[in-house]
Amino acid sequence: MMAAVTIKKKKNKFSEAPVFTEKKDYRPEGVKETGLAFVGHEISEDRTTMNQFLHYDQLYTIRHGWNSKFFIGLLDGKIMGTRCPKCGDSWVPVRTHCWNLDCNLEKTEWVEMPLTAKVHTWTVAGWSGRSSLKRLPIILVYAVVGNSKVAIANELHGLKPWDVEFGMPLKIVFKPKEQRIGAVTDFHFEPADGWKPSPMNKEKERIKKLVEPVYEWVKTLK
Ligand SMILES: [Zn+2]
Repeated sequence: MMAAVTIKKKKNKFSEAPVFTEKKDYRPEGVKETGLAFVGHEISEDRTTMNQFLHYDQLYTIRHGWNSKFFIGLLDGKIMGTRCPKCGDSWVPVRTHCWNLDCNLEKTEWVEMPLTAKVHTWTVAGWSGRSSLKRLPIILVYAVVGNSKVAIANELHGLKPWDVEFGMPLKIVFKPKEQRIGAVTDFHFEPADGWKPSPMNKEKERIKKLVEPVYEWVKTLK
């Protein structure tokens, strides 16, 4: 026979449910096409929590929880990172707790990052999803924002693909406020003001040869 089990009422250790007061709906009218689109978001009254609504054949809600301030920051034209108050390491994309073992999972604090970055690594996309085909070739970089310990991926605009250099200085450029949706596509990278590409060399010629047919192919698209 099984012993009787008494369930003690546990103290609720979760924080109170956020009150969402800022809600936007930008679902395109009559979405029929299958595919992926951000169709709205809601932000709590204290602006610490954000949920996004993603339509991918059916509606999904992305609950950003403790990472919300990063996405709310994008709406405001800011790059929000997190920082460990113990060791000072900082991160974009954000971490909610420090990764250093000595810090014993210390909770991080929010910091506004500078709108400057450096190329960590990069590639050129010669093929993409249907919605981006006409913009090919697309330069994709992993860039280190400010003194972040990790790199974030995004597009690099404003130069030829063969002119990208490892470590080159970048600036972060946001879309106009009314076009932002709180997603990483709200911004892209561009070369820092005053940056000039180095002269052509063998490696640049090699990349140019690979990329030029893509420009030609895009011209044939209707
Ligand atoms: Zn730490």
